Amino acid sequence: MEKLINRAAKDLVESKYAIALTGAGMSTESGIPDFRGPKGIWTKQPEAERKAYQTYGKFQANPKEYWEERLSGPSLFGDLGKVAPNPGHYALAELEKMGILKCVITQNIDNLHERAGSKRVLDYHGNAFKLRCVSCNTRYDLEEYDLQKLRDEGRLPPLCKKCGGTVKDDIVHFTEPIPLDIAEESEKEALECDLMLICGTSAVVYPFANLPLMARSRSGTLPSGLYGTGYRTTVKIIELNAEPTPLTHEGVSDYLIQGKTGEILPQIVDEVKRAS
Ligand code: NAD
Repeated sequence: MEKLINRAAKDLVESKYAIALTGAGMSTESGIPDFRGPKGIWTKQPEAERKAYQTYGKFQANPKEYWEERLSGPSLFGDLGKVAPNPGHYALAELEKMGILKCVITQNIDNLHERAGSKRVLDYHGNAFKLRCVSCNTRYDLEEYDLQKLRDEGRLPPLCKKCGGTVKDDIVHFTEPIPLDIAEESEKEALECDLMLICGTSAVVYPFANLPLMARSRSGTLPSGLYGTGYRTTVKIIELNAEPTPLTHEGVSDYLIQGKTGEILPQIVDEVKRAS
């Protein structure tokens, strides 16, 4: 384990453009359950997963009813405002401050990377503290709309202050397309990085799970020609997860550090400080 931590630190120090990809495992140590780990929400309540597949269809069919239901039911994740970032989130923020990590692309909706101080965060599946216009993609902080008042006055769904389009919560539900701006920016990062640190994700949710594949596809010698440069490119892909994933089994990642993100990431940062 120590050897792998040192190896990851060395790889990070030598990288020119490192990015991190994170998933629900990053926040379990903050008390938010993941979906597919042993104590995951779907593992314990398979019925909730089936229902989650219907959420976006409901919004499309009737945004008013969708909003009314959303405002009366409890959140699947409990009160996200009450949880706090853990040492893993702070470690990634510190790597960014040191100029090593250029961005975090997260599947998490919990806003914990931002709260830990990470500046460049791409919320691939949205952010539970934001709303998004489905027409023009403008994001709003939750507080910018008084949703309870709109409900009491029969004025749901909320409408975009910029274009008048329908406003939805920013969370990307199953079957909902990834907002184009985030999808494009994330792909650009995957194609630009020379190191990808993948933390706490089972890597089975697509299209997010394509990002490591895109990075990996750039390794090897690119033939000269229209798109190829003729130069050899190498991308280091490091996984940090409690268990092996398809990325481990299929050789997409170079190596797996098996353990908890909240424990290992701070050790990597300490080692980076020693090595740089
Ligand atoms: P997942 O539940 O499919 O996989 C989580 C992975 O992390 C598992 O392999 C698990 O073994 C591992 N893990 C759990 N705790 C860990 C720890 N402390 N350290 C290292 N690894 C740990 O999660 P996913 O791949 O992110 O996909 C689930 C989807 O659900 C995502 O799209 C995400 O949007 C959403 N989700 C978000 C949150 C959140 O915002 N915190 C929580 C649950 C689910």
